[in-house]
Amino acid sequence: MAAEGRPALPPAPDVLVIGTGAGGAPLLARLAQAGLRVVALEAGERHPPAGIATDEVAQAGLFWMDERLAAGGDPVGFGRNNSGRGVGGSTLHFTAYTPRAHPDDFTLRRDTGQGVDWPIGYGDLEPYYDEVEQFIGVSGPAEYPWGGPRSAPYRHPPLPLNGAARLMERACAEVGMRTSPAANAALSRPQEQEGYGTRPACSNRGFCQAGCSTGAKASLDVTYLALAERHGAVIVDGAQVTALLTDASGRVRGARFVRAGREETLEAGTVVLAAGAIETPRLLLRQNLANSSGQVGRNFMAHVGVQVWGLVEDDLRPYKGIPGGLISEDTHRGIPGVVGGYLLQSLGVMPVTYATQFARGTGTWGPALIDHLSRYNHVAGINVLGDCLPYDHNYLELSDELDARGLPKPRVHFTFGKNERRMSAHAEALMRDLWARAGAREVWALPRAAHTIGTARMGEDPASSVIDPFGRAHDTPGLWICDNSTFPSALAVNPALTQMALSLRTADALITHLKETA
Ligand SMILES: Cc1cc2nc3c(=O)[nH]c(=O)nc-3n(C[C@H](O)[C@H](O)[C@H](O)COP(=O)(O)OP(=O)(O)OC[C@H]3O[C@@H](n4cnc5c(N)ncnc54)[C@H](O)[C@@H]3O)c2cc1C
Ligand code: SF4
Repeated sequence: MAAEGRPALPPAPDVLVIGTGAGGAPLLARLAQAGLRVVALEAGERHPPAGIATDEVAQAGLFWMDERLAAGGDPVGFGRNNSGRGVGGSTLHFTAYTPRAHPDDFTLRRDTGQGVDWPIGYGDLEPYYDEVEQFIGVSGPAEYPWGGPRSAPYRHPPLPLNGAARLMERACAEVGMRTSPAANAALSRPQEQEGYGTRPACSNRGFCQAGCSTGAKASLDVTYLALAERHGAVIVDGAQVTALLTDASGRVRGARFVRAGREETLEAGTVVLAAGAIETPRLLLRQNLANSSGQVGRNFMAHVGVQVWGLVEDDLRPYKGIPGGLISEDTHRGIPGVVGGYLLQSLGVMPVTYATQFARGTGTWGPALIDHLSRYNHVAGINVLGDCLPYDHNYLELSDELDARGLPKPRVHFTFGKNERRMSAHAEALMRDLWARAGAREVWALPRAAHTIGTARMGEDPASSVIDPFGRAHDTPGLWICDNSTFPSALAVNPALTQMALSLRTADALITHLKETA
């Protein structure tokens, strides 16, 4: 029922999608294109490009800043570090690196005896990878040196390299490591986008992580969500779901949500939960839904993400140029004593982000911090994105502390295993060597973990997984899940492209299912 001053909701849509990030948005568009009546409820607001300021502090509204409790030996930093909030989810502030997973990322257990295999393989996702890359307009090299077979090259040529990327390229060449311009979901030339209009080429202003004010970056608001609305999808922003509605048989029938301070409900034929790897299990655990396996909240993962910074003579201005420019995947496999692997990526960084990370990571304060920051224009960074195995000791639970809505805050336990520690040490040593070769005077490392993954994994076996290989909850009719919570293992690549590909695949399966059960 519509309330005064708020847009009316269509009654009982065929499908209700909760969350509009990398998991929710492509699916929403696909369902709308298929003629289904679809509604998305999104906790955050709309952030159209014209309203994005070139100012990190002013853009804090792009992040999920509600308190989350971090526990374990390597507590994960939340807030700005890893979660988005808004129409477009975390892609509003992602760096737009879009490498594909490798075929062997899906078969780690088969190949090494450790980790967990995915119930699907690279071949299942390849057509979807290609479709997403073409639709959102990924820029990349004519020939990418790593990974599985591709059905088509990248749609646009690569973006220019920033200062850190050029240094990394030189240093890698010295040690015989291959590098390549990265696949990046920012446009190197203009593109027409259905439902949005013309997206311009990237102007290299470097503020991707504070939102893109031109629409050059393929955040979901200017790509799949524009397409979804063009085909009749209704996106309700500022609507935070607090519970799923169920009937006496246990079937999910809709959602309860808070909009403009008032509680409302919306019934729907099917619900797709796409709220990310923290909020999805948080919602499910509150009602003990989809949890006959006991796996909801389990196997939380975060990528090994150590960064290494160096101080160089060149005036690099790290806020300039596309921050996601150069990549090497030569360390994808073959690291002695390590299961899985990592990739290397050059960094760009905005001043406040850098100052915060440096102060926290090194414990430098006061005059020493000010002195260091006076040389900000000369810092160059590389980081890694390394696989993380699923462990029993890493999980999300509901705490006794309540948030402002009276809901339990999530507590996330996370401790790297020996494998991740060995990987991180290997990566740090390699990056220190590269920066020494690039002529850096001082070199320092910031250990960190990146992305929130796992907690509602997919699998064939209902006893050890939450959803089936297409996204349908094993034990709860009417419920599908589509976000980073469903990853059985972390993959040694950035997750967003794989998530968008999975989203289209889940949408196709849902459309077929609805036709079959109509
Ligand atoms: C700084 C940063 C840089 C990154 N860079 C890259 C990169 O270069 N490449 C890459 O591949 N990945 C990158 N990522 C990660 C990437 O953005 C995520 O992996 C991906 O967006 C996750 O998709 P998702 O659908 O699981 O969640 P999200 O995209 O976070 O979407 C979840 C959505 O659900 C909404 N929501 C949550 N709870 C509720 C609720 N109760 N009711 C209603 N709505 C709700 C949220 O507001 C959000 O919009 C980056 C992340 C960060 C933080
Ligand atoms: S560097 Fe390009 S993609 Fe990134 S915010 Fe600037 S214009 Fe947008």
